[in-house]
Amino acid sequence: MDELLAMTKNGLFCPQGNFYIDPLLPVPLALLTHAHGDHARRGSNHYMAQRDSLELLEYRLGSDISLKTVGYREKVKLGNVWVSFHPAGHILGSSQIRIEHGSRVAVASGDYKRALDGSCEPFELLPCDLFVTESTFGLPIYHWKSSEESALEICQWWQSNAELGRPSVLFCYSLGKAQRVLHLLKALTDREIFIHGSIAPINACYEKHGVELAKTQVVTHLKEKRDYSHELIMAPLSAFRSPWMRRFKNSQTAFASGWMAVRGTKRRRGFDKGFVLSDHADWNDLIDTVQATGARKVWVTHGFTETLARYLREKNQIDATPLAGFVQQEED
Ligand SMILES: [Zn+2]
Ligand SMILES: [Zn+2]
Repeated sequence: MDELLAMTKNGLFCPQGNFYIDPLLPVPLALLTHAHGDHARRGSNHYMAQRDSLELLEYRLGSDISLKTVGYREKVKLGNVWVSFHPAGHILGSSQIRIEHGSRVAVASGDYKRALDGSCEPFELLPCDLFVTESTFGLPIYHWKSSEESALEICQWWQSNAELGRPSVLFCYSLGKAQRVLHLLKALTDREIFIHGSIAPINACYEKHGVELAKTQVVTHLKEKRDYSHELIMAPLSAFRSPWMRRFKNSQTAFASGWMAVRGTKRRRGFDKGFVLSDHADWNDLIDTVQATGARKVWVTHGFTETLARYLREKNQIDATPLAGFVQQEED
């Protein structure tokens, strides 16, 4: 039986609908799961995505792209198939793409997480025949604690640094993670948080969609002489060890990421502290989600594809295959 999706050199392709999902190369029609760079690439003729990602995609890909947006669960006919976007719980606008043809359903998850995140819609479980799952953290060592716990740890770290008169510089992915942290911190502090200039336009996209964030001020808009010794500053990884850091004398640094769950990663990467906070499903959530979809066939992309696919085959008797060719974004 022909599948509703096929892996091609351009990426995931739906032959019956004549479109690609998060293509690797420019194509005529690209359906995008979300605005992260390893999914949304420039150069395609036309794009389709969920409505909440409009501003993020225009910011990332340019406002001149041909982009059609649809609401969650709105069904659109493309060729011979019905297509709809459903929340993936990963970042603002992130979607699983559901393809329906007769009685058959395929779902491409994009990136997803099951933990609740007040900065985007919660993941929706979609029963399907073919499920394309990510596997960014597809190793049994990855297990998340609650995001509220991590946010509290960030505040405590900030406070203890401030008591020593040291600025706290928290590095995180500027799209998604920064806003999730700021949303969590809003519940914990009234203080103003300083942000790197690259985070501000993305905050604006989130606020436009009603996501509440802690008060922020952009560092680049300030005079160099400011005293940061009691402040929390958020920045993307690209600013780590850059000249931009010089204004934060005697600072303590930390990284908020799922990668911080593994002992040694923090030290190897040179951060003083690590906070475990991921926008992806952990090992148990990946397996539970795959099982809950009831899919008879599973394709595994982005990450530890071989490990997760083998586990699903051996322990869950699921016909799981790793797909090659997807490069994981380092900051995820
Ligand atoms: Zn992503
Ligand atoms: Zn990704």
